[in-house]
Amino acid sequence: MSIDRRSFLRRATALAGGVGIGLGWQQALAKANRTGLRAQSVPSSTVGDPTMVSTWNHGMPANMAGFDALANGGSALDMIEAGARIVEADPTGQSVGLGGLPDRDGHVTLDACIMDHTQNAGSVCFVQNVAHPLSLARQVMENTPHVMLAGAGAEQYARELKMPATPLLTEASRKAWEQWQIESNYAPVINIENHDTIGLLALDDQGRLAGGCTTSGVAYKMHGRVGDSPIIGAGLYVDGTAGGATATGLGEAVMKTVGSFLVVELMRQGALAQEACEEAVHRIMKAMPVDDLQVGYLALGLDGSVGGHAIHSGFNYALHRPDASNAQKAIGQLIDASHG
Ligand code: ASP
Repeated sequence: MSIDRRSFLRRATALAGGVGIGLGWQQALAKANRTGLRAQSVPSSTVGDPTMVSTWNHGMPANMAGFDALANGGSALDMIEAGARIVEADPTGQSVGLGGLPDRDGHVTLDACIMDHTQNAGSVCFVQNVAHPLSLARQVMENTPHVMLAGAGAEQYARELKMPATPLLTEASRKAWEQWQIESNYAPVINIENHDTIGLLALDDQGRLAGGCTTSGVAYKMHGRVGDSPIIGAGLYVDGTAGGATATGLGEAVMKTVGSFLVVELMRQGALAQEACEEAVHRIMKAMPVDDLQVGYLALGLDGSVGGHAIHSGFNYALHRPDASNAQKAIGQLIDASHG
């Protein structure tokens, strides 16, 4: 089977010119405003309030676990790890951790990374039989001189840490793979609900920012393919002086445009979290055909402001902030970040 790139990278005729392609980011946003393509901006919280945002519906339980970690004295990093572990352990989610859809040869291979406000970062990619790759990425960050470990080396490190070897291919995902093999058609489609990476961003009660990203990647990918999710600057970027961002969707498009770094860099230059996500989306639309690919960005500012934007409709994220009457408890909501 060969990958037919043209089959999923076709000219975006419907969208070309629609959202300010070719303009600077400020002008592009002004045009998007006029054409009504902007998503709802989410106002910042009261400064000092912890905030957690995570992609997709599975962001809701993740954020709740994050706030539990905070209530137990945890930091923003602990919020991220606690949230990721909930989703990684859920066998019904076929895009993250246990139960993730395999590559075209039937192997579940995982990518994950974590980063904090001091720009410490850790990452693992192409890892098999590790139930919690984001926890492994945190170990790489905190206990090795490296940023990224890959494949067998990352698994070896997991065994040294006494993380058990966990088979990740569930019966449901094996059946889905067998069904896919009938046609073996490699054509990633626009991501739909419950079929995506979790990217998480958290601001704790001391104003520390952290982020994480964990995924089984694009279903039925080539064996050895690594997406954007473990790449610092692509699937995730955090800078304690500017903000944090994470990406979901077709990783190749995010990697080519170094998307999460771009979002954070725009925030450093004065863009709001929402504006920065919109501009990063526009950059992809300017650079390549997007008819058949989806990318969504999520950003969190140092003041707790949140932005989210995607190429196509259907992207949402979960936002949790403290209950006004009980700062240890969080109130969550799902926010539609579709532009349409
Ligand atoms: N970004 C992930 C990847 O390309 C996939 C996803 O978000 O669904 O591996």
